Amino acid sequence: MIIKCVEQLKNIRGETASLGFVPTMGYLHEGHVSLIKKARQENDQVVVSVFVNPTQFGPNEDIETYPKNIERDQAMAVSAGADYVFYPHISTIYPEGASTYVTVEGPIANILCAKSRPDHFKGVTTVVNILLNMVQPDRVYFGQKDAQQAILIQKMARDLHMPVDVVVCPIVREYDGLALSSRNVHLTREERKQAQCLYQALQDAKNLVKSKDQKAADLVQVMKNRINHKPLVNIDYVEIREARDLSPVTVVKAHPDSHKVSLALVAAWVGKTRLIDNMFLNEE
Ligand code: AMP
Repeated sequence: MIIKCVEQLKNIRGETASLGFVPTMGYLHEGHVSLIKKARQENDQVVVSVFVNPTQFGPNEDIETYPKNIERDQAMAVSAGADYVFYPHISTIYPEGASTYVTVEGPIANILCAKSRPDHFKGVTTVVNILLNMVQPDRVYFGQKDAQQAILIQKMARDLHMPVDVVVCPIVREYDGLALSSRNVHLTREERKQAQCLYQALQDAKNLVKSKDQKAADLVQVMKNRINHKPLVNIDYVEIREARDLSPVTVVKAHPDSHKVSLALVAAWVGKTRLIDNMFLNEE
């Protein structure tokens, strides 16, 4: 069932023992479906939101061409176990005159995707705050695919004592390893083929760590070499950081302490489409 207003959300919250929430920008795929299924398992009722949030797009980014299909989204969400699809009008989320933003400060907010998308995370943390205030779930579900986003939101929830559990779910991939993304529909056939190198680069690094400790800089070079072989793929960043808080890493241990797991992260332009991916390198 599609709902559009906050009154309806209040009724759902009032009647439900435990409520799970999956925020999305729509054009759902199996990655979103995995979050909805997890929410279904852990809660009495599940709300999925579909909202292409303008404040997280920069001036020259792809909000105009972001793919949309609410009928298909509704059918997919319901068949994955959603009870409600919250599909708000922009004025419901940002009433006229709204001018309050929530930002996470510190090193984590200035690295990786934040470098090439300066106000992106400010838009994300603000809209997630607004949506959480509206839905008031017990648990909210995010994908590891957007690793920096997931860590920022966990931090925000902790820092602001928000009464919600932030659950992070594994990346769902295509048959050849490409991480599912709503933006993959923009890829031409040749771009789609070459995009596979992002997963292969991450897998190269992971394989090297299996046998022995590795310098992070060496692994980054191996990954860049793999990606640079593909003429349609242009690197934005390739980095290795601590999975827990994205702090810098110099040596990736083959057998780390559990809190010292390393994460390789990539962002690249494939033609005109910017894709991101990441992989834990040394998880047991
Ligand atoms: P989006 O609609 O792209 O804003 O994504 C909504 C949620 O789905 C975010 O928490 C994403 O991290 C998550 N997500 C997107 N792609 C995947 C994927 N391939 N596997 C798992 N989760 C994903």
